[in-house]
Amino acid sequence: MRIETLAVHAGAEPDETRALAPPIHLSTTFEHPPDSRELDGYLYSRYGNPTQDRLERALTALDGGDRCLVYGSGMAAAAALMTALPRGSHLVLADDTYFSVRTLARELGARIGFEVSLVDATRLEAVRGALRPGTRCVWIETPSNPHIRIADIAGVAELARGAGAVLVVDGTFATPILQRPIALGAHVVLHSCTKYMGGHSDVQAGALVIGGDAELLATLGGQRMLHGAVASPMSSWLVLRGLRTLACRMEWHCRSAAAVAEALAAHPAVEQVNYPGLADHPHHRLAATQMKAFGGMLSLRVRGGRARALAAAGRLRLLRNATSLGSTESLCEHRESVEGPDSPTEPDLLRLSIGLEHPDDLIADLDQALRG
Ligand SMILES: *Cc1c(COP(=O)(O)O)cnc(C)c1O
Repeated sequence: MRIETLAVHAGAEPDETRALAPPIHLSTTFEHPPDSRELDGYLYSRYGNPTQDRLERALTALDGGDRCLVYGSGMAAAAALMTALPRGSHLVLADDTYFSVRTLARELGARIGFEVSLVDATRLEAVRGALRPGTRCVWIETPSNPHIRIADIAGVAELARGAGAVLVVDGTFATPILQRPIALGAHVVLHSCTKYMGGHSDVQAGALVIGGDAELLATLGGQRMLHGAVASPMSSWLVLRGLRTLACRMEWHCRSAAAVAEALAAHPAVEQVNYPGLADHPHHRLAATQMKAFGGMLSLRVRGGRARALAAAGRLRLLRNATSLGSTESLCEHRESVEGPDSPTEPDLLRLSIGLEHPDDLIADLDQALRG
């Protein structure tokens, strides 16, 4: 079945009422006999609940994995994976990943005892050079945040597998509609469902889709029951609802982002546009083979430095200054400001999440903001 069809139907199996919209099971507890035997698959909501299960089935199908675990946020999913790393092991982490993921690796690594090497994951030689006998995990994000770089998933997967390490791909920017890392050799796909999957800036959730690593799955499953970072039934339901329109939303996001990227690339106030759909993007050809389309995220560098970038962001009327991404409304963010004093991001960089407005209106707003 095509992925667009799966997005509409996965996890929507009817229950005894034959309702087409799935029920939200809010119950935290499920009756059992005196010996605490589980009767129909459920005991307690933190161990699993029917609404969360629907979402997990849907995401497993969309990413072509064996199982999925959903969490209360993307960061809870990331923390679960890192907490599962054995003490004394080594993590190879792409240097252009969501800022909080890098902070988490540094802090958890110091506390629970794993070492972290940051690498430019767009260069296979750099990944190869960072691998050591103790490397247990290679973690990349593609497209990456905030530079919208593309890493070669199949190439990195081959290196990771050769070294006996698990490859984690943060696929939040792409979603399974545009990119399916497990088919390219990844072991785990991480999604912040808060972004495109939820799609409406009204739900926080995260997911790990696992392809064929039973040991890792058992560790993560056991850990989630104890650590408790589950997605609530309401959050699970909202993400499931978001999935129903994901394929058509992504098509519009991609088309509009391409139009905005082209307009910005020709704009006199813009120094550089990072969008993999542009023919001069350094990873354009790789993106064209690995992804179905180039996504709805782009970043730009404003000529004249930090003050000009901030002033332009301040003049926007239609695009909103806010963090997060992947929703119906377009967002702009000065990443250096949100990342704080340790930010390695260029001070003139603005990241845009292109929403579902008409691209002509977005281009007009960006034009007036950049002209000043
Ligand atoms: C937002 C984001 C996360 C974290 O997800 P939350 O739901 O905010 O916890 C992880 N990775 C990427 C690429 C993200 O954009």
